[in-house]
Amino acid sequence: MSGFTLLFLVTLAITTLTRLWLAGRHVRHVATHRDRVPLAFRRRITLAAHRKAADYTTAKVRFAMLMAVVDGLLLLIWTLGGGLDLLDQAWRSLNLGPLATGTALLVSAFLVIGILELPATLYETFVLEQRFGFNHVTPGLFVADLLKQLVLLLVIGVPLILTALWLMQRAGDRWWLAVWLLWSGFTLFMIWAYPTVIAPLFNKFTPLKRGPLLKRVEQLLARTGFESRGVFVMDGSRRSAHGNAYFTGFGRHKRIVFFDTLLKSLKGSEIEAVLAHELGHFHHRHIVKRIVLMFAVSLASLALLGWLIRQPWFYSGLGVSTPSDHAALLLFLLVGPVFSFFLQPLMAWGSRRHEYQADAFAARQADINAMIRALVKLYQENASTLTPDPLYSAFYDSHPPASLRIAHLQSLA
Ligand SMILES: [Zn+2]
Repeated sequence: MSGFTLLFLVTLAITTLTRLWLAGRHVRHVATHRDRVPLAFRRRITLAAHRKAADYTTAKVRFAMLMAVVDGLLLLIWTLGGGLDLLDQAWRSLNLGPLATGTALLVSAFLVIGILELPATLYETFVLEQRFGFNHVTPGLFVADLLKQLVLLLVIGVPLILTALWLMQRAGDRWWLAVWLLWSGFTLFMIWAYPTVIAPLFNKFTPLKRGPLLKRVEQLLARTGFESRGVFVMDGSRRSAHGNAYFTGFGRHKRIVFFDTLLKSLKGSEIEAVLAHELGHFHHRHIVKRIVLMFAVSLASLALLGWLIRQPWFYSGLGVSTPSDHAALLLFLLVGPVFSFFLQPLMAWGSRRHEYQADAFAARQADINAMIRALVKLYQENASTLTPDPLYSAFYDSHPPASLRIAHLQSLA
């Protein structure tokens, strides 16, 4: 066994065991606190709702534990088990030329990965979410979504893969810089295309109707000096009962999107506070900062791949017999997350810092108590646990636990 194979196996074992250990802690912590609503929430959240959140969290985390093991095994089958090599040799035997072979391998691998993930997605949608009353997806809608995603993979994915492989062949030693420019351009294109072209394929967006709520929203936008291309309501209830609000786009093309489920459960002052929080992300340039960070991470990753692609042990150590650009790219995408797993807490910490900043902005621009009421309602309606394991939360959570967030808001009052 090569040294690199050993490093891969040890790292995969450590990440999988860490995922299982953190999940186990989380389940135990939630179970311990299942029968008592935390003091700070006792007036607002019933014991029944608290227990439902505990059971929903436990069911999701238990399933994630199973998936951690399944994902690890599948990765072993793809790499050392020879799955990727088998697929590569099958395409090679057709003698289509390097570009077509590479594109065919990548697209077929993504399709196989998608098909293998299907049972898990079906279980999550029609069993897990269904059991807790969140699922609104019908079998017909599920199939329609799947077909649309397939068309998108072919229409957007194939030209992108083809161009990337062409640059890898033609752009010389610094191909990774060329591919990085392509990837960055593609990311910016998607930031424009997602809200305007792609999201409307899956959901209906209607401008927020005239009335007291629109007036409230417009006043908040004027007060905080934000320009936007409109406030939209999305039919999130087509797929789930979970509520949300988000911002998309750049500069003057910003759009504000409310899920219809959110508008149904929150009052005007609470929606205003949630929107003020989202505006806080814009005020502090969190979105731009995240995109710049993504660009930097992809540049570093591609530079690393530029070196790995010339190392014979990178292929042989991961079960691929014939080195090629497309095999290197696919191996990197499959195996990279195993090695970058331990960056997760760093990313989560950065994200939580941004959430506190956005909350502080909301506290200045809107009613703090409305913000707290909105948070409690969102936790209750989404059956999110109020008592996460502190270590699990620190490792994964992009948002601070409810108790800390509310304590922070109260300290600003
Ligand atoms: Zn936020």
